[in-house]
Amino acid sequence: MNECIFCEIANRRAETYLIYMDDRFMIFHDIRPMNLGHVIVAPRRHIEDISELTDEEYKDFMSLVVITARLLRKILGAKRVTVFSIGAKITHFHFHLVPILNDEKLSEIGSKFSAMKEGADRTKIINLVEEMKKCFSSQWGLIIYGHRICFSRFWWSHNIK
Ligand SMILES: [Zn+2]
Repeated sequence: MNECIFCEIANRRAETYLIYMDDRFMIFHDIRPMNLGHVIVAPRRHIEDISELTDEEYKDFMSLVVITARLLRKILGAKRVTVFSIGAKITHFHFHLVPILNDEKLSEIGSKFSAMKEGADRTKIINLVEEMKKCFSSQWGLIIYGHRICFSRFWWSHNIK
């Protein structure tokens, strides 16, 4: 378990494009993204699959996934956000959220953007991460685990319905 990169991130021992972290969950931009906005949502504790989430964790985890998908759609203007979980390589349970920005297929995105790392792409990722961090900070009125998910100021300031 010492080798788990997600545990390293959860314990702040590994560098990442961190967007959000609380005592149970974390959200970060993939370091080898399939597209701009390819983020990971994961529990901080090491569990191997979704069956190990408690009922409460499951509910709150899914809230975070939904919030994150909404933010990606609003900030990037994504057409839709794909969600998948494979768990074959990294055994620390997580969901991938990959925004589809145009009409491209996921397989096309994979080959097109797998080289996203340095330069302009890196700046785009950093800018997006900063924007998302703002949305997750309390000053923006985001109620993460409440029954109502409120984006208030973010919605208004971006003139979104
Ligand atoms: Zn782990």
